[in-house]
Amino acid sequence: MSKGEAKTSVKLLSAHDEAGNVRTFVFETGGLTWVAGQNQGWVLPHEGETNDDNEHWFTVSSAPSEETMSISTRVSDSKYKQHLNSLKPGDTIEVYEMGGDFTWEDEPSEPIVMVAAGIGITPFRSILLEREHNGKKLNGTLLYFNRDDNVPFRELLEELAKKHPEFKYQVIVGERIAGERILELAPQAKDQTVYLSGAKPMVLALAEELEKKSVKTKQDRFPGYDESNY
Ligand SMILES: Cc1cc2nc3c(=O)[nH]c(=O)nc-3n(C[C@H](O)[C@H](O)[C@H](O)COP(=O)(O)OP(=O)(O)OC[C@H]3O[C@@H](n4cnc5c(N)ncnc54)[C@H](O)[C@@H]3O)c2cc1C
Repeated sequence: MSKGEAKTSVKLLSAHDEAGNVRTFVFETGGLTWVAGQNQGWVLPHEGETNDDNEHWFTVSSAPSEETMSISTRVSDSKYKQHLNSLKPGDTIEVYEMGGDFTWEDEPSEPIVMVAAGIGITPFRSILLEREHNGKKLNGTLLYFNRDDNVPFRELLEELAKKHPEFKYQVIVGERIAGERILELAPQAKDQTVYLSGAKPMVLALAEELEKKSVKTKQDRFPGYDESNY
């Protein structure tokens, strides 16, 4: 993660619930551009007691082709989330330029395995919608692990799987995630790159396990989440 100093102020357009405590906040782009899967620091324009109170990183959950910039997050009791959740349409937030290499842009593309845990689904929403918009193949398997049945973006991802036979979407609820289980559900992972996204400690542990088995990984790690709240 790295960021320059330049920040852009963007207006909130709307907000809506997804599933469980996941809520999406839709902003105007303010002229910012991003590659699907990228992330950046989002700063609430107030002085918090600590940096954590007013600055959090988020992956953009909308595809660039949607022409609005969304973040989707679990609304916790933290000062940052409570303030974010209190914003009204027209209120502003400041965003650094986008960065990160958790992207899937190559074409013709090698198939990949995507593994998302809980709120780690955000980059895949953006990546898959953008590939579809650009007429690229969605040749991958998305294994989605969640603590409960409140599955964000389920309808949209099921629709994509119906339209694109080369795209497989499987939801796994209430199971501990382990490298072995990923290889059982998607044995092709051994020969492909596995994109892992979710709570930082979970992604680190999974990556270590998979890499020991010589499986290549790419990682999007979210601090602030763990096995209890992902
Ligand atoms: C590249 C990137 C992309 C992200 N994308 C998303 C996303 O799409 N959606 C989403 O919901 N979240 C995302 N996050 C995580 C997000 O920035 C917040 O950390 C998370 O949402 C928790 O915020 P909170 O206010 O609920 O918890 P907080 O109250 O901020 O944190 C909860 C606990 O985690 C600890 N913690 C917080 N930040 C860190 C840190 N940097 N390192 C170690 N421990 C920490 C706190 O001390 C506290 O104990 C992303 C983070 C990164 C780095």
